[in-house]
Amino acid sequence: MAFLKEAATAILAHGGGNWVWKALTRAGRRPVVVVYHRVLARGERPLDRTQRYVTAAEFTRQVTYLSRTRRATTLAELVADADGAGPAFAVTFDDGYGDTYRVAFPTLRELGVTATAFVTTEVVSGGAWQWWDRLAHALSESVGETFRAGGRIYYLANEKAVDSAQAALTAALKRSPRREAIVEDIATQLGVAAGVPEGLYMSWEEVRTLHRCGWTIGAHSQTHRIYTTMTGEETRADVEGCAARIEREIGERPRLVAPPNGEYDDEAVAIFRRAGFTGAVTMVGGPIRPKAGPFRIARVAPNGGEPWALFMLRLSGLYDMVRRL
Ligand SMILES: [Zn+2]
Repeated sequence: MAFLKEAATAILAHGGGNWVWKALTRAGRRPVVVVYHRVLARGERPLDRTQRYVTAAEFTRQVTYLSRTRRATTLAELVADADGAGPAFAVTFDDGYGDTYRVAFPTLRELGVTATAFVTTEVVSGGAWQWWDRLAHALSESVGETFRAGGRIYYLANEKAVDSAQAALTAALKRSPRREAIVEDIATQLGVAAGVPEGLYMSWEEVRTLHRCGWTIGAHSQTHRIYTTMTGEETRADVEGCAARIEREIGERPRLVAPPNGEYDDEAVAIFRRAGFTGAVTMVGGPIRPKAGPFRIARVAPNGGEPWALFMLRLSGLYDMVRRL
């Protein structure tokens, strides 16, 4: 990955020939949707360093650039007609983190930009964790230095070991229906209590404020289970439950859905349609592809610490093109 990033950056830095330029120009006329997860306040450290996050400074620089070079629009507009939208951009947030409200919202308000927040309803309702945060919290707050999971013993000697345990377990548990129980077991072994840190996730009051200020509130499941690991009936129940909760809290039924991890199939799309949704977003990078349709909207996912050129490559779609080679 590091090599790929360097190669892609080098291509851009050295002009890279005509085709790169042509691809960039073509892509520059396509609308883009950017997706953020955590936007860290100044001086704040991420709970889970292995997940995507940006700093407040990176976020401000990126959205300021977008609003100077493209027309700000909403995801709803792009879902309705991406091919006719021209060089526009829309901003989205997944998961329901508190910093969407505290850090990103004031910055966007200054720029006159509204966004879409995809919320995980059980997490926003309070008391529940996103399971990877619970794991990261247990590993970093641990009083013990070792624990067992899946027949392996992990040693938390230093920050590097913590991060590699976090990355390995996140990958291993992502599709497991027992992941919450396994993470709780790890936390118990490490002696870390379950309380969710104040403000880690948004409250419904904050979600309502965003909605009142023109933001769109979208569905991001009830508990962040991945739809491709669930039966059609389980997916239906989750999507319906998530939509009903949002409607109860903000007084409006959500029309847009961001399936967890961007993993969903055609059967899930049929379920989304029946539940009244008009569009879905993926975790496929780059500008919205021509004729992608409202249920396969691509999103650019910037990551903290990346060079500016890489953000440009992500916007152009070249980064994802190279990755697919
Ligand atoms: Zn998510």
